[in-house]
Amino acid sequence: MSNLPSVAYFCMEYGLHSDFKMYAGGLGILAGDHMKGAKDLELPLVGIGLKWKQGYTDQRIAENGQPYDSYHNYNYDFLEDTGVKVTVHIRNVPIVCQVWKTEAFGNNPLYLLDTDIPENGERWITGQLYGWFGEERIAQEIVLGIGGVKALRAMGHAVDVYHFNEGHAALAATELIREKMSSGLTFEEAWNQTREEVVFTTHTPIKEGNESHPLDKLEYMGAFNGLTLDQMKRIGGDPFNMTVAGLRLSRIANGVAVLHAETANKMWKEVAGRSEIIPITNAIHTPTWVDERMTQAYENGGDVWAAHMEIKRELVDFIFNRTGSQLDAEKLLIGFSRRAAPYKRSDLIFSQPEVIEPYLESGKIQIVFSGKAHPLDDTGKQIVSNLVAMMKKYPKGVVFLENYDMTIGAMLTRGSDIWLNNPRRPLEASGTSGMKAAMNGVLNCSILDGWWPEACIDGVNGWQFGDGFETTDFEKLDQHDSDALYDTLLNRVVPTYYENRDQWVSMMKESIRTTREEFATKRMLNDYYTKMYQKG
Ligand SMILES: *Cc1c(COP(=O)(O)O)cnc(C)c1O
Repeated sequence: MSNLPSVAYFCMEYGLHSDFKMYAGGLGILAGDHMKGAKDLELPLVGIGLKWKQGYTDQRIAENGQPYDSYHNYNYDFLEDTGVKVTVHIRNVPIVCQVWKTEAFGNNPLYLLDTDIPENGERWITGQLYGWFGEERIAQEIVLGIGGVKALRAMGHAVDVYHFNEGHAALAATELIREKMSSGLTFEEAWNQTREEVVFTTHTPIKEGNESHPLDKLEYMGAFNGLTLDQMKRIGGDPFNMTVAGLRLSRIANGVAVLHAETANKMWKEVAGRSEIIPITNAIHTPTWVDERMTQAYENGGDVWAAHMEIKRELVDFIFNRTGSQLDAEKLLIGFSRRAAPYKRSDLIFSQPEVIEPYLESGKIQIVFSGKAHPLDDTGKQIVSNLVAMMKKYPKGVVFLENYDMTIGAMLTRGSDIWLNNPRRPLEASGTSGMKAAMNGVLNCSILDGWWPEACIDGVNGWQFGDGFETTDFEKLDQHDSDALYDTLLNRVVPTYYENRDQWVSMMKESIRTTREEFATKRMLNDYYTKMYQKG
């Protein structure tokens, strides 16, 4: 494989293991799986990230039902010290970044930059992942981007392609441009050459989710890195939008599902001089996420229902140990876990109480929720406390698991019967938890958003509802989708589960068969190499 381009993959977060707290959510899980998939295929790719001292919030539920955040310092003995240190300038102060390395999780080399060392007066920069927004975030992005490129140079690691996974890494390009200008190129030449070596992945299709910073703040923080105000404005606009910058700094970009690439191209069509956004649908690292017992049963013609029930009972016990709620393994169990954000509508299933109440009161439908709100997002926290209130109201039907992490993610996506997803289409970029579920024989019941339109054969390998309906009138959309959810859930899913077990089991097998290769990291990495990393 030595003829393949050497790739440096930049990301703010990596989900490699539940207890290695370098991740917050889906972006990190994707990056972690990318690193593991690259290892499986022996691809020449390394990761660049930050070594978070406290990681993302631990979010638990207080007695009064409100979520509260706490942070703890973590030490990781398994990290290897590369002996490399690089210096970036933040507010004109030199900040030394120590470079750690890990391959401890069956992943390709991941290099993590750390500012929490005695050389620095300000050691907080790599403290909390997404803990802040303004100057602190810019400081983190300087370390990731500019520090990351310097670390690769200091290690003598040759790079053909820089992959910016999300806009957080865009400042790396200021260093790539600066290097070229210092060897005599004009800004134009340096920008053009840099564009030839950068590829970019855009994620959130929600405008406000795409970070931007006032130019004067970036300048004050030191993010210009030698470039002028005018040059920075040409790259990222005013204010400087990290996604716009990514699109103008790359030779090609991608969205993370077919529908998402379409949405992203529409969303950014006004941006002059940007790269084309092609689709490369996300995928999962199957050894991490698929239960071996299910794989064995599926591949060897074993009893997939028996394997499922064994795994489901483990989930029921796990829930009991965590919450004291005793669910019934014989009854339908729906899993729903994702970040608490309004567009994900975790309360859609409660929207018509007169319809759903009898099911939840009797426990004929049991639903397990998990998910964190961003620590500074009061709306998200309200969503969490509403779910906790539902758990008190319907003790047989609703459970909320606090402090969502990879352990909970893995338990729910292998032990539930149904994986429910009902975002406001087209606001879900991809959604990898549904892939984890599908490959474990956990049937997706989902709006046609993110990856699901590519996989869904309605009534055969799972269910869709909502028929792809879209409108920006959210009241209308929510009413439409709520009716559709109840229709599918109560008239198709529930009867199949309780009255037609054979049909259910054949759907489980179809779910596994139709997804296990298409949505595995091998396919995704092959796409990245052939469509993005290798020049066409
Ligand atoms: C899989 C996973 C995600 C990503 O799931 P989505 O479908 O994008 O919501 C996020 N967090 C954790 C802990 C996961 O395991």
